Amino acid sequence: QAKHLGGNTLQFFTDGLRTSSLEKLQMEHELRKALSSGQLEVFYQPRLDLHSKRIEAVEALVRWRHPEHGLIAPGQFIDLAEETGLIIPLGEQVLRQACQQTHQWRQAGEADLRVSVNLSVKQLRQGNFVSLVRQVLEETGLAPERLELELTESQLLDDIDNAINICRQLRALGVQLAIDDFGTGYSSLSYLKRFPVNYVKIDRSFISELDLTDEGAAIARAIIAMVHALGLKAVAEGVEIQAQMDFLAAQGCDEVQGYLLCKPVEAARLLEFIRAHGLLP
Ligand code: C2E
Ligand code: MG
Ligand code: MG
Ligand code: MG
Repeated sequence: QAKHLGGNTLQFFTDGLRTSSLEKLQMEHELRKALSSGQLEVFYQPRLDLHSKRIEAVEALVRWRHPEHGLIAPGQFIDLAEETGLIIPLGEQVLRQACQQTHQWRQAGEADLRVSVNLSVKQLRQGNFVSLVRQVLEETGLAPERLELELTESQLLDDIDNAINICRQLRALGVQLAIDDFGTGYSSLSYLKRFPVNYVKIDRSFISELDLTDEGAAIARAIIAMVHALGLKAVAEGVEIQAQMDFLAAQGCDEVQGYLLCKPVEAARLLEFIRAHGLLP
């Protein structure tokens, strides 16, 4: 991919880990520009509710629409945003855009969806994160139950008491919470019990294995059972083939998300997709 780039342009499309400190500095500069000139755009991926057979929710996933390099996936810049602290303004922009868009769909009578937004633990550590969320909900008009915030297990474990405290405050606002990429961290039952979350998103790595081996299926089944035993909802990520969806439906998994249904797409295309398939709630 780097060969598309002229002489002294950025190399950040090759491999985030290999970039030199100079390249990082250049990229940080570019990312700041992107933040101040509106180059970050939110894409949406539908989440199918297996009970109602409708799209009741979408996940907001950031994209960088670079004026020269085109659309850049978050895997290429989220780590740097985390390292530099730019994840805080970035996260705020994504949150605002996602809430605005979701409320607008509802206002226009087009779709009444819940939107899930990925968070960085750095955002949680900001002293005023809960008031920021309250303010964004007020500004945009989105009902708190229509917002879901996703955190990964390992991030929650980083600073568990503070995380639990903030999660409680967010729940008190009426916001829904999800554990993202479940199974990739400690996946401890006792930790899961301590967090006041509503949804557990089973990591794609478990879903991709569930049709290959008996063990894969057993693990997916056990995770779903455990999530349900805690009174939470199970969401499967990365569903790519029909056999996986059928298995998950048979296990009582509550929601599925993945390329089988739809890739993350621009706001306008998301609506076209749900309309075309008659999947409006
Ligand atoms: P995530 O939160 O686990 O999001 C799901 C990722 O899996 C997305 O990648 C999505 O495009 C991809 N995906 C969905 N279905 C399938 C499938 O069937 N097969 C495969 N192979 N992949 C699938 P994406 O959009 O590239 O985002 C990657 C990660 O970047 C996200 O993982 C999330 O951790 C992070 N991210 C994205 N947007 C934001 C954001 O606004 N803030 C923060 N802090 N992180 C974000
Ligand atoms: Mg996510
Ligand atoms: Mg995530
Ligand atoms: Mg995930």
